[in-house]
Amino acid sequence: MVKKRNQILSAIAIILLCVLFGLLYINKKNIKKEISYNEFLQYIQEEKVEKVILGNESKLKVKFKGEDGFYKVENPRNPSLKETLLIQDISVEENTENTPLSIIQGIMVIAFFSLGFWYVQKQWKKQQPKYSMAMEIDDSRKQQQKITRFYDVAGNEEAKEAVEDVVDFIKNPEKYSKYGARMPRGIIFYGPPGTGKTLMAKAIAGESGVPFFAVSGSDFVQMYVGVGASRIRDLFKKARMEKKAVIFIDEIDALGKKRTVSGTGGNDERDQTLNALLTEMSGFHEGEGIVVIAATNRLDILDEALLRPGRFDRHIEIGLPDVTGREKILCIHAKNKPLNPEIDLKKVAKQTVYFSGAMLENLLNESAMLAAKRSGEMIQWEDIDQAFYTVIAGAAKKDRSGVLEKDRKITAYHEAGHALVTKLIAPENTVSKVTIIPSTKGAGGFSMNIPPDKMYYTKKEMEHQIQVYLGGRIAEEIVFGAEEVTTGASNDIEKATSLLKDYVMKYGMSKETGILNMHILADVGQKQIVQETVFQECRKQMNHLYEKTKNLLIENKFFLDSIAKELLRKESLTEEDLNQLVSISL
Ligand code: ADP
Ligand code: ZN
Repeated sequence: MVKKRNQILSAIAIILLCVLFGLLYINKKNIKKEISYNEFLQYIQEEKVEKVILGNESKLKVKFKGEDGFYKVENPRNPSLKETLLIQDISVEENTENTPLSIIQGIMVIAFFSLGFWYVQKQWKKQQPKYSMAMEIDDSRKQQQKITRFYDVAGNEEAKEAVEDVVDFIKNPEKYSKYGARMPRGIIFYGPPGTGKTLMAKAIAGESGVPFFAVSGSDFVQMYVGVGASRIRDLFKKARMEKKAVIFIDEIDALGKKRTVSGTGGNDERDQTLNALLTEMSGFHEGEGIVVIAATNRLDILDEALLRPGRFDRHIEIGLPDVTGREKILCIHAKNKPLNPEIDLKKVAKQTVYFSGAMLENLLNESAMLAAKRSGEMIQWEDIDQAFYTVIAGAAKKDRSGVLEKDRKITAYHEAGHALVTKLIAPENTVSKVTIIPSTKGAGGFSMNIPPDKMYYTKKEMEHQIQVYLGGRIAEEIVFGAEEVTTGASNDIEKATSLLKDYVMKYGMSKETGILNMHILADVGQKQIVQETVFQECRKQMNHLYEKTKNLLIENKFFLDSIAKELLRKESLTEEDLNQLVSISL
């Protein structure tokens, strides 16, 4: 179809070219040769000239009596020439307007160049197959593709909850605008690759029953200046034509990475594309049902301009699934496969720690391929076992399960330490989740420890916060020994130190150093003493808090063990789980 059209267009181009050259030739043929102005004047005197064509061009055309065709003469552009000729009874034609022939010639030239331009552009567009393919797929997806719903996305319950209102908004934007409520124009999903960010965006479109437009930030890299921006405008135009839509931009970091401080101006094209995106987003009407969702593996590398209110101001983490999540994902992808009923997906879920949803899907797919290869009736346990190594082949060939187990145990105790200290001394803090699945924010698992939102923090609360930070390292020490503590606490130590520094230097909370602002003292030339004093005091305080917390955890070792065990079993615990574990025996 496309090929045929190209052939027709090439034919048109060739015909146009022939006609153009033909016309030029005819024109040329009419003109015989050039004569000098003096010769021309001479011929006038000899009364041999029949007709002269005057014009604004650089040459005049002269016709002689009894001859066909014209001769060219230098045009003196002399206003009295016409009179001279007329007096001599020579007919004069003025050629100030374009002859039909020259008009046709002009049109032909324009047509030819437009055609050439169009062709080059088309050829160049072909070099970006990813983008156009995405658009084409999307167009067809609207009609025939299976609609993705929330039940196709397993796990990620928090994320689902966080986007429920978005679905409602797309369906009834008027409802929200009536109350003056401003829905987030842009949502960012962030988390490791293959965790279902795209899937979730599709599900939002599916649930709301609106078309889904997808592009990837990396498609815009290395384009000519201005092209990316115009594509963004096209994309939004398309979405607007549908009235309601979900626009998905994968790998937004390719467009919206933080500009380096020392950077040399950065990338013009990228900036223009990004600006076009932000402009389009701010151009939405409140009552419009268009939502832009972007995905990235890392939120921290994005330019702040993107994250400002009114832009991508809702950030939703989509993390690696825990054991229950993995089981659910496996269930979804096992549905259309002949799995031996004896295979326990729960067991598979347990063995696939740190697997993403995409890896799990891949695992079952590889197993199915193995079963097909050996023409087996069903997928057997051996197939899954073998596929397991194919899927993690990228990582390391050697059996890592032993190492993994040890890592898991360390993480479990570390996180249990943070959680238990919180429960024991800072119960007003919310522990929304404790998990041993690594998040994008930290290396190991992390426990969300949200202090109550208030204006002032007391001295005691600051100490407690530092103790919570220390809890992870202390748990490691108690369980595995002082020589076995790990690098996992680096972030905790950083935060604890920073807090303690303020405690001493800024808030005058240390009895030893008194109510003094150490920064000001350092400014008036006491730098050396201040540094020495602050260092000594911080060290003393930290050791004191460490010992205090250590005793607390030793006294409550029973709870530490039970939280850690439960974490190893379930991988993530809610606040409720935690309360139950700690209060049963309190
Ligand atoms: P991301 O956009 O986060 O890189 P995708 O959404 O592209 O990940 O996920 C790739 C595939 O992995 C999906 O098409 C789906 O088959 C599978 N998958 C990932 N996460 C899930 C999940 N939570 N539930 C079901 N399938 C998932
Ligand atoms: Zn920690």
